[in-house]
Amino acid sequence: MASERIESVTLTPIPSSYQKELGKNAYIDNIGSQRLEWVVRARSTSGAEGISIANRLMREGTVEKTLAFLKDALLGREVDDLLGIYDGVVTGAGPGMDRWYRHNGWLSILAFDLVGKVRGISAIDLFGGKKHDSVPAYDTTLYFQDFLNPAKGAQQVGDEAAQAVADGWRALKLKLGRGGRWMLPEAGMRRDIEVVHSVRESVGPDVKIYVDANFGYDNHLDLLDRLIKEVTPTDIFWFEEMITHDVDGYKAMRESLARHGSSALLTCGEVDRNPISEVFQDLIEDGLIDGYQPDIVGHGYLGWMELERQLKGTGVRTIPHNFGNGTFGSYASIVWGAASETYVSLEDERNIRHFLTPLPAFTDGAYALPTGPGLGVDIDESGYAPHAKHENRIEV
Ligand SMILES: [Mg+2]
Repeated sequence: MASERIESVTLTPIPSSYQKELGKNAYIDNIGSQRLEWVVRARSTSGAEGISIANRLMREGTVEKTLAFLKDALLGREVDDLLGIYDGVVTGAGPGMDRWYRHNGWLSILAFDLVGKVRGISAIDLFGGKKHDSVPAYDTTLYFQDFLNPAKGAQQVGDEAAQAVADGWRALKLKLGRGGRWMLPEAGMRRDIEVVHSVRESVGPDVKIYVDANFGYDNHLDLLDRLIKEVTPTDIFWFEEMITHDVDGYKAMRESLARHGSSALLTCGEVDRNPISEVFQDLIEDGLIDGYQPDIVGHGYLGWMELERQLKGTGVRTIPHNFGNGTFGSYASIVWGAASETYVSLEDERNIRHFLTPLPAFTDGAYALPTGPGLGVDIDESGYAPHAKHENRIEV
């Protein structure tokens, strides 16, 4: 086969808008209506292009440093050297590539995309083929919307939840933990309960409800027990990060769930930057969590392949975090979700698409699988054009 190597790489900041303004969570002030995606495009000899976003590196990085990283990691590299592949299935990093992927998992997603496009096969097949025919997704935009419209209060969240269901969603996540920072702990708990009840009344019995407190119940296990008691009749599917990951705290939560007759899952792990770190190992081995949530783009495909190997047989399911990954994150999640046996649901920010080709069809709360090579997504050049003036380019 002729040499197929990466000849140019670009890094471009592109703002993506939400469908509405997003309010606070337990500890961060209003998210707002827009987030930035640091889009990386790596083009190889034949014109194939791998895409990813470098948001994690740019969180504390600079354009200059990130370009230097991309130059060393990618420029001039043979596409065949990006991934180790046996019998058409990825087994790990290509020779010498592990050091580049280790703290920058998003780069391994670009590798799957480019290798798939050069070979003309789907990244799902590079994982060994699909495990599901569609990928369920949940609306993750129900922040403390009551603070944006105090007059309406909890009903504001209920109304937005009803709109999400009208838009086709069958699962929603509600931010809780108002007493962590923005209200007194007990008043915050009461508002959290009111919000959950308002949403259940607004969406009816068939929609899945997840809740996420971003540790907002730390040091308040008594209030958390009361919350669990009051919301259990509304049928919560999972409780996420109600408190900071801690064996004793999670034992207490398990006891609360049992006491109040809840069969909800306990999930956490999005803050684990070096998974699976020790406390999460303990939670997994002690059977105290049911879902593990390192970020899909930050930790990347090779990272998640390794995590699934480690989670096998533990009963802990794959629920990657995706908030902040913008429009690109949905594509990355759909591919991984299709290939992952224990995947539960895609965290969808529902950003307005403008620089990527359309997502697969969304029907009955789930995405169809992409059909194109790689991730099945390309840059929409007309949507990208206005952002090209901020493009940073390196070439061989
Ligand atoms: Mg979360």
